[in-house]
Amino acid sequence: MQQPFFPCNNLSAKDGVLQFAGQDTASLAKQYGTPLYLLDEARIRHNCRVYLNAFRAHFPAGSLPHYASKANACKALYRLMTEEGMGIDVVSPGEIYTAREAGFDLSKAFFHGNNKTDADIAFAMDCGVGCFVADNEEELCAIDREANRRGIRQRVILRLTPGIDTHTYAAVNTGKVDSKFGAAIETGQAKALTALALQKRGIDLCGFHCHIGSQVFEEDVFERAAVIMIDFMAQMKADFDFETKLLNLGGGYGVRYVESDGQIDIPQKIATLAGVINDRCQHHGIPVPQIAMEPGRSIVADAGLTLYTVGTVKRIPGYKTYVSIDGGMGDNPRFALYRSSYTCLVANKLGEPADLEASLVGRCCESGDIIQEHVMFPSSVTRGDLVAVCTTGAYNYAMASNYNRLGRPATVLLHPDGTSDVIVKRETMEDLVRLDV
Ligand SMILES: *Cc1c(COP(=O)(O)O)cnc(C)c1O
Repeated sequence: MQQPFFPCNNLSAKDGVLQFAGQDTASLAKQYGTPLYLLDEARIRHNCRVYLNAFRAHFPAGSLPHYASKANACKALYRLMTEEGMGIDVVSPGEIYTAREAGFDLSKAFFHGNNKTDADIAFAMDCGVGCFVADNEEELCAIDREANRRGIRQRVILRLTPGIDTHTYAAVNTGKVDSKFGAAIETGQAKALTALALQKRGIDLCGFHCHIGSQVFEEDVFERAAVIMIDFMAQMKADFDFETKLLNLGGGYGVRYVESDGQIDIPQKIATLAGVINDRCQHHGIPVPQIAMEPGRSIVADAGLTLYTVGTVKRIPGYKTYVSIDGGMGDNPRFALYRSSYTCLVANKLGEPADLEASLVGRCCESGDIIQEHVMFPSSVTRGDLVAVCTTGAYNYAMASNYNRLGRPATVLLHPDGTSDVIVKRETMEDLVRLDV
C-alpha cells in the first residue's frame, strides 16, 4: 500500500491515523471538536529561524525579517514573534491593536496598506508603530499632517512597483506597473513621491519597499526586483543626494501545498539574493542598506492543518461524488477565491487505498463552497470520518467569515512536548449575536 503524499515533514501516519507535529489528529478532533485549526509551534519557530539565521549570515547589521501577520493574526502568534525576535507587518488598526494587546514591541512593525485612513494613521502613531509604508501621495501627505500635528518626524518608506510580473494568480500579483499598490518606477511616479517625501517636515524618509506577489516560485524575480530597486536608489542618490538606509523586499516565497508544487530552499535563495544586492550596490558605488523581508505564508502555512468531520457522501452515478464536511468556505475561502490547491486526506483511513475521486465541499449554501476538486479518498469514506486539509496555516483563519452564521473554528497550538492549548476559542452562538441589537 502506497503511503499518501505528505506536503510537509511534520505529517506522518501511525496505524492508519494521521499524526501532525507528532500528535494524533483523531485524539485532537475528539478533544477539541471539528472543524479545528491546528498550528505546529515548533514548525513556526523553525520557519522564523530559517529567515533569522539567513539574515544574520548575509545581510548588514540591523536587517530583520518581518512576519506579515495578515497571514494569520492572533495574540499567541504575536507573542511567538516576540520570542523569536522577528519584526512584524501590520495592515490595519485591528492587527496593530492585537499585536499591542499581545505586548509586541510595535517599534519593530511596518504599517502597510494602500488606503490608511486619518484615524488609522493617528492610531498607529499612538501605538508607536515604527515605520509606515506610504503607498501614494495622498497617504504621504496625511502621514505628514498627523506627524506635524504631534511635532514628530515619522519614519517612512515608500512602496514602489518595480514593474515585475510574477505570473502567479492575478489577485496575488502585486509588482506590476498597473497594480493597485505603490508608485511605479517606470512612470516617474516613484521619483515624484520621493521628491515629495523629502520636502515634508513630518516625514523621515528611510527607504523603499516593494512586494512583487505571493506564492512565488519563479527562479529570479526577487533578484530582478532587487536590481530594479537598487538602480532606483542610485538614481535617488544622484538626483536628490538621498541615501537609502532601508530596502524592504516584501514577502512572497511559495510553499508546497501539493506534490506538483516546487520546494524553495530559503537560505539558498537569500544567499543568492544577498550576492545580487551586494554586487549591484557596489556597481553603483552606494552602501548596502539594511534589508527587510516580509514572509507571511512561508512562516505559518505548513505549520497549519484543518480537521473536519465528514457528514454526507453523495454519489451521483455516472457524474461525480461529493464529500461534505462540517466547515467550508467560511473557514477556508481560498479555493473559492483563487482555486488554490490543497492536499486533502481522510485522516483516520490512511491505510486504505485512495481510489474514489470526489469533490470536497463545505456546508454553506453556495455551490462555490468547495475546498478542493478531484481529491482521491478511500471509497469507504463515510459520515463520521475525519478529513485533514494540509498546509492551512496561512490565509485561512485570517480570511474566515461567519457566512451562513457559522462560528469560526478554534485554533489549537501543538507544543513540541506533546501538549496543546487553545489559542483562539471556537465562536459560540452567543458570539454570533453579540453585536446584534
Ligand atoms: C501579503 C504581503 C506579504 C506576505 O506575503 P506572503 O506571500 O504571505 O509571504 C508581505 N508584504 C506585503 C506588503 C504583503 O501585502
